[in-house]
Amino acid sequence: MNIKPLVEGSELKGYRILNSRKSLSLEKTDKLNRLEKGFAGELLFYENIVGLSKEWLLLNDLQLESNNNKFQIDSLLICKKSLMLFEVKNYEGDYYIEGDKWYYMNGDAIQNPVNQLERTESLVRRLLQDHKYNNIPIQSYVVFVNSNFHLYNAPRNLPIIFPTQLNRFFKELNNISSKTNNYQMRLAKKLHSLHKNITPELPKYSYGELRKGVICGNCCSFNLESKKNTLFCKDCGTIEDISLAILRSVDEYTLFFPEQKITISYILDWCNGIRGRDTIRKILLKKYTLKWNGKASYYEKSSD
Ligand SMILES: [Zn+2]
Repeated sequence: MNIKPLVEGSELKGYRILNSRKSLSLEKTDKLNRLEKGFAGELLFYENIVGLSKEWLLLNDLQLESNNNKFQIDSLLICKKSLMLFEVKNYEGDYYIEGDKWYYMNGDAIQNPVNQLERTESLVRRLLQDHKYNNIPIQSYVVFVNSNFHLYNAPRNLPIIFPTQLNRFFKELNNISSKTNNYQMRLAKKLHSLHKNITPELPKYSYGELRKGVICGNCCSFNLESKKNTLFCKDCGTIEDISLAILRSVDEYTLFFPEQKITISYILDWCNGIRGRDTIRKILLKKYTLKWNGKASYYEKSSD
C-alpha cells in the first residue's frame, strides 16, 4: 500500500515555478538541474517499486527528526519481516573510493553516501525505540539508478545496488513476503504522522519581479490558451480545468508569500486577470472560507 506517494518536493516545485516567473542566476539554474536529476532518479526507483504491486507499506521522501537530528529518507518499505531503507542516487559518470572517502573522477571529494545511509539507519533505529517499536530488523541500501554511473575500487561488502544489479534486485524484492499486519500499519501511520514538511530554501525574489499569470501545471509554461472552462498548454499539450489551475496558482502564491493574506484583489493580480472578480471568488470558495472583516476581509484555506 502506498502510504506516502512520491511527489516533487517543495524545493524543486519552488525552483521550477521561479525559473518560469523570473530569470535564475547560473548558479541557481545548476541547482535546479541537480534537483531535477535527483527527482528523476527517485521517480525511476519509485515507479519500479510501485510496479511490483506488493502488499508492503511504502513511504517516500520522509523528513523526520530523531534525537534532535533532522534527516530525510528517500524511500522506506515496511515488509513482513523487516523495514527497508533506500537512499537513491542518480549519479552519472566515473567515481572512485579511497579509504572511506568518495571522489568524482576529476578529484573533487563528494559526501560518502554509505556514511549518510548509516547515519540515517541509526537515527531510524533510535526513532523506532522512542516510539516503542523494538527489534524490527532494518536493511538499508544506497541505490544507484543511472546506467552511466561507475564506481572504481568499491569493496564487495558495501550496501550498494549498482545500476547493472537493479533488475535482479527488483526481482528479488518481488519474491519476499510482503503481507503486513496491523502492528506494521500502525508503525507506517506513526512514521507518516512524524513527517514534517520543511520550508524550502529558494532563490531570492520579490513580488514585483515575478511574472504574473497562470502557468501550466505540468511544464510551468505561460503559453496557455484559455478556452471556456479549461486552459490548454501550447507547449506540452496539457489541458487543465480553470478552477484547478487558479487554485493551484493560489497555492503557488502561498508558497512564495506565506505571510500574505489571500484576497480577491491579490489573486486577480497574481493570475493577471485571467478571469473576473466574481469567477475568482466562486473558485476560491471551493477550497477557502471567507473571513469577513469589512474592507480587510480575506480568505483562509478550509480544512479538508
Ligand atoms: Zn505545459
